[in-house]
Amino acid sequence: MNSSFDRRQWLRYVWASGAAAGLARLGASDCSAAEVGEPGGFQSSIIAKSKIDANRANARLVGDRVIQPERQLPVLHRTDVLVVGGGSAGVVAALAARRAGADVTLVERYGHFGGLWTGGLVLLILGHIVKGGKQVCQGIGEEIMRRLEKLDGAIINRRPGVNPTVDAEAAKYILVEMVMEAKLKVFLHCWGVDAIMDGDSIRGAVFESKSGRQAILAKVVVDATGDGDVLAAAGAEYEHRSHNVGLVSRVGNLDRVDKQAAQQSPKPRGLGGPTPVPGVNWVNMLGPEVDGLDIEVLTRLELNHRRFIWQNVQKMRKTPGYEKVYLVETAPQLGVRITRVLAGVKTITRNDIDAPTKIPDVVGVGGASHAEHGPWQIPYGALLPVKIDNLLAAGRCVSAEMRMADLVRLIPNCFVTGHAAGVAAAVAAMDGCRPRDVDISKLQRILREQEAYLG
Ligand SMILES: Cc1cc2nc3c(=O)[nH]c(=O)nc-3n(C[C@H](O)[C@H](O)[C@H](O)COP(=O)(O)OP(=O)(O)OC[C@H]3O[C@@H](n4cnc5c(N)ncnc54)[C@H](O)[C@@H]3O)c2cc1C
Repeated sequence: MNSSFDRRQWLRYVWASGAAAGLARLGASDCSAAEVGEPGGFQSSIIAKSKIDANRANARLVGDRVIQPERQLPVLHRTDVLVVGGGSAGVVAALAARRAGADVTLVERYGHFGGLWTGGLVLLILGHIVKGGKQVCQGIGEEIMRRLEKLDGAIINRRPGVNPTVDAEAAKYILVEMVMEAKLKVFLHCWGVDAIMDGDSIRGAVFESKSGRQAILAKVVVDATGDGDVLAAAGAEYEHRSHNVGLVSRVGNLDRVDKQAAQQSPKPRGLGGPTPVPGVNWVNMLGPEVDGLDIEVLTRLELNHRRFIWQNVQKMRKTPGYEKVYLVETAPQLGVRITRVLAGVKTITRNDIDAPTKIPDVVGVGGASHAEHGPWQIPYGALLPVKIDNLLAAGRCVSAEMRMADLVRLIPNCFVTGHAAGVAAAVAAMDGCRPRDVDISKLQRILREQEAYLG
């Protein structure tokens, strides 16, 4: 059986189910299976009979220890630039590297792009403006916002000096469009689990997926996992931090609140802020300060947060005037803010805000949450590990002191560090040098050509 599923086949399958629905509509007054359930017209065949996977290298129980044997891994793909993590930083990094001329591969553990921005339902784009209202996030981040603006119901409050809010599905859609237009090589449902090392140089990463454990070889790797999974696996130094972990949700029917009845009782908590969908708000959650790398903690929070959100909405529905409010959804992804932060060649510090002198290796400019202060420059060194070569960090795991981390991790600032890491990775891969040796003026020139703002 041919395992490749091309566009023509895909259209045929979509059309087949659409046609089935259409026929059912024409032929009967009751709802057909195609409209309310499965579309029918299934096809299934046996790919291999009586299969037992060969070349396994199972972990062995030796006494009470579990030992993992050495084994050869299949090489799934080779690329110039490998971006691990398809969040706001990773997608922008991959697009920037591709536009700079590199062959790029983007790998993501889930089935969609956007990371916390979309899967975490963090819909409010904070941090792209500074005192006076200037927008410092330009380049590909701004292009994404402009493209969202052209879609119906995709973005609100998109005006100079204001923080816009997006619809998660619109953002997922635009990111898919941009990734496909750029013809990026993409692997979804692939979890980066190890770094492939040659001394202190990273040469790619190992991924775990339904296809098993496979390797992707690369000239340069960008760690855009948010949690610095790759940089940790490569042996780069980082700071392990705790932070608040919450779970974002959306509530609906807020346009059907009976305002007169609602005046009789105190406003319920957890009503959130508006989204592009009328009557639907996104509800942020702070959550407790925990170690976002501890799987037992993450599991406990996921369970507790889901229970809390449901019960809170039920309580809300008992408040006079709010009876019609309902829970639209809880975010598929837990809201982990900060875990591993790279120990970089340089570190973004609080003193960088409003710094009067221009830093020589500036690769971007970050902003404030509500334009409450001026810009801060992002040095290229904040993306570079001290010791490990051919590796760059992007997004919320770049090198930043504690007091700056809550600014650095904001979505537009992740766009900006992603943009810089992507171009730098492409330049290093194409010039055959280590990222720490890239020609800074060339990197800055390409970033400006791609409309990034460097101050
Ligand atoms: C609850 C909460 C509220 C927030 N509120 C705001 C706000 O109002 N405004 C704002 O601007 N910012 C806000 N933030 C911050 C912002 O959402 C994030 O910091 C930002 O989206 C991070 O982007 P990123 O690309 O660096 O990381 P992420 O969005 O975490 O993306 C990382 C991507 O890598 C993938 N990945 C992770 N590990 C692996 C692996 N090992 N292999 C393969 N793929 C992997 C993930 O699935 C994900 O797609 C909030 C964050 C949280 C948690």
